[in-house]
Amino acid sequence: MSTPIDPVKLAKLAEVAVNVGVALQPGQDLILTAPMAALPLVRQIAAAAYRAGAGVVTPIFADEEIALARYAHGHDNSFDRAPNWLYNGMAEAFANGAARMAIVGDNPMLLATQDPAKVARAGKANAIAYQPALAKIAGFDINWSICAYPGEAWARQMFPDLAPDAAVQKLAEAIFAASRVDQPDPVAAWAAHNATLRARTNWLNDKRFSALRFTGPGTDLTVGLADGHAWQGGASTAKNGVTCNANIPTEEVFTTPHAARVEGRVRATKPLAHQGSLIENIEVRFEAGRIVEAKASKGEAVLLKLLDSDDGARRLGEVALVPHGSPISQSGLLFYNTLFDENAACHIALGQCYAKCFEDGSLTPEQIAAQGGNSSMIHVDWMIGSGDIDIDGLAADGSATPVFRKGEWA
Ligand code: ZN
Ligand code: ZN
Repeated sequence: MSTPIDPVKLAKLAEVAVNVGVALQPGQDLILTAPMAALPLVRQIAAAAYRAGAGVVTPIFADEEIALARYAHGHDNSFDRAPNWLYNGMAEAFANGAARMAIVGDNPMLLATQDPAKVARAGKANAIAYQPALAKIAGFDINWSICAYPGEAWARQMFPDLAPDAAVQKLAEAIFAASRVDQPDPVAAWAAHNATLRARTNWLNDKRFSALRFTGPGTDLTVGLADGHAWQGGASTAKNGVTCNANIPTEEVFTTPHAARVEGRVRATKPLAHQGSLIENIEVRFEAGRIVEAKASKGEAVLLKLLDSDDGARRLGEVALVPHGSPISQSGLLFYNTLFDENAACHIALGQCYAKCFEDGSLTPEQIAAQGGNSSMIHVDWMIGSGDIDIDGLAADGSATPVFRKGEWA
């Protein structure tokens, strides 16, 4: 059977996912979640994982038809339920040393025409159930990684004017380029890229800015940084000692903002695809770290529901810097997927912070909160960078150092 997806590059993507992304260790189990469409990649990843000495590889698939069946036929009570047993089992597997891989590639607009209240309830129930497993991922207890497969529904969303095969091929090539598997030696390319990101994080960590100020059209935002924050980017080492690349691709350097020290206005520079809905032209205002005004030209109801998820959903858990010249940004494509779109622009995330973004990587949740780290059941990135954004690093005494000018490193 012919396929629009280059089989050689797909096999290289599987190798990168296993050996650079999750950096699977001999004897380590792997839990893998994926959309049904990604089965060809899942099979390649399983083979690569067993070649790398995997214990047991357990794939867990999601199916779009089954997801839609819930909205078409599900009883109202269904939308407050989630498979706790599954997530508790994942958390147990992580506690026992398993690694985690997620493959994205489903239809980003799958739930766009469903009742936003039901989508939000299902999302919230799932987020609560997922908490024990997510805590081990967000706390970086284990090596984990996300990569992407060019599913047809996703490709058609991105390229509605192309025939399905042509759309899949175009998305596949974009994923392969962004994931560096179009290069002769992808593993060496990743080593060089990680070194570049390391130089950026070292510079920022030496500067010890107390805040970043973003200015641009519709934006004048000062993001205070958490006490004892650390910048991260590219490869990093989990608490189990394994150095992995949590995102394939990745272009960002990122850290933890102070949950109570964010002030001013910010305008999103790209639409946010969230749980099947598109939220466009987000504008919010922060006071003392909290969003006190929020609007969007489209999907505002979804945005407001998201902000009401819990106490931490109106505060920031991440701030990330990505140059406008990054390959994903220069592709000019809107992927409707955070893994790619967040690597096209500077972004902030509502909700949960990353425990690894502190100098002391072994802080308790109480210590993280005391240093300004936010906690929430959500973590949603949205893009605030563009070629028009300037960023200054502010020292504790208020003096400013240029960090970005016109979207590029100063
Ligand atoms: Zn990010
Ligand atoms: Zn994020």
